[in-house]
Amino acid sequence: MTTATALVCDDCATVFPFEGLATLCTACGGLLEVTYDLGAVPRDFRERAAASREEGMWRWRALLPLPPEARIVSLGEGNTPLVAAPALGARLGVPKLYIKNDGVMPTGSFKDRGFSLAISYAHHYGLTRGYTYSSGNAGASFAAYCGRAGIDGTVFVEYIANDAKVAAIQMLGAKVFRLRYTSSVEIFDTLTELTRAGEYTFVNFINPIRHEAMKVYAYEICESLGWRCPDVMIHPVGTGGGIWGAWKGFQELHSLGLIDRLPRMIGVQPEACAPLEHAFQNHLDETVPIGDVTRTIAQSIAGDDMIAGGRRALRAVRDSGGGAVAVSDDDVLDAVRDLGTVGVLAEPSAAVGIAALTAARAHGWVHEDDLVVDVVTGTLLKQTETALQAAPAVRGTVRATVAEFRSIIEGTGD
Ligand SMILES: *Cc1c(COP(=O)(O)O)cnc(C)c1O
Ligand SMILES: [Zn+2]
Repeated sequence: MTTATALVCDDCATVFPFEGLATLCTACGGLLEVTYDLGAVPRDFRERAAASREEGMWRWRALLPLPPEARIVSLGEGNTPLVAAPALGARLGVPKLYIKNDGVMPTGSFKDRGFSLAISYAHHYGLTRGYTYSSGNAGASFAAYCGRAGIDGTVFVEYIANDAKVAAIQMLGAKVFRLRYTSSVEIFDTLTELTRAGEYTFVNFINPIRHEAMKVYAYEICESLGWRCPDVMIHPVGTGGGIWGAWKGFQELHSLGLIDRLPRMIGVQPEACAPLEHAFQNHLDETVPIGDVTRTIAQSIAGDDMIAGGRRALRAVRDSGGGAVAVSDDDVLDAVRDLGTVGVLAEPSAAVGIAALTAARAHGWVHEDDLVVDVVTGTLLKQTETALQAAPAVRGTVRATVAEFRSIIEGTGD
């Protein structure tokens, strides 16, 4: 049922079989990546998925690394809508604009695909206790799937996480601790040490399974477009798991002959802390610590450095002919409002793609004729303080009488 073959190290190319809970390479500490035997993928992969009795992302199980006998831990993730936004697109110079709305996932963010897969996998291999660190969304998702699987989950939330997100994690049953640190580097070092000591972590990229589920973006988007590949895909970038996974998915579809080209991938971060954009613009091989995570409303993607030097995310944007953009909070707030006009409620981190379009056009990575897919990764409803900040004031107060209602509706009242 799965065509996954092994785990291979990014740095030393050591190959590890699937025989339990592997995290980082035990030879050199590098990141592990799942490999597949694409020749063994059924020729009618698309048709099978379309006819599958599984739901959402699990229709694509042939390209997900879960042993066939494993139980799926699911809350109905995936199959999110691809919303055409021609009027907003025209205003931004790309009339063929589509929004992939992952804000409608079970816990309100795109993290659910990753945790459905990663928790299914860990549960299969007998994990009873696990942890992740999170700015809010990963924690909620992790908590929800741990709850379903009976895994005892602990979430270390970043101190910048807002209260609504923290409350959601607690509602979903995980133990929550607030995490103090001065730089993302501290967290990465601590996590690496814990991983070496044998602890299993659900942090993106350190966990080699999680981002595999992000490939399903590529499958769902191409399916929604009648098996046409978009010219451009824009994705917010935190650790880079989302954009890396999506890029891998497009490459797989291309290798399988199901799409005739690849999209340019554009990664977006807040101006206050944009290590990917900094490394990209300065032609660096790796990200370096930069910026201040407290100075942006885009909390879910606020990091002053990236795991493993952001090398995978850099590869995704460079190899695809795309780029990296940094956006201001003011532009992000405007993008939150713009997305509201097309019926999509996006948290700031999820709206950065729309905020980046003008700059991406100016760089020449996006052209007027392009079919552009922007991914909205999380719902505004979990970042209520931004909703209050972005929304206009209520028009006024009326008495509930027929006469007052009528005068408002007919536009004669104030
Ligand atoms: C986690 C998150 C991201 C960043 O995803 P990465 O895979 O870490 O790059 C973007 N947007 C939202 C809403 C998120 O929760
Ligand atoms: Zn290695």
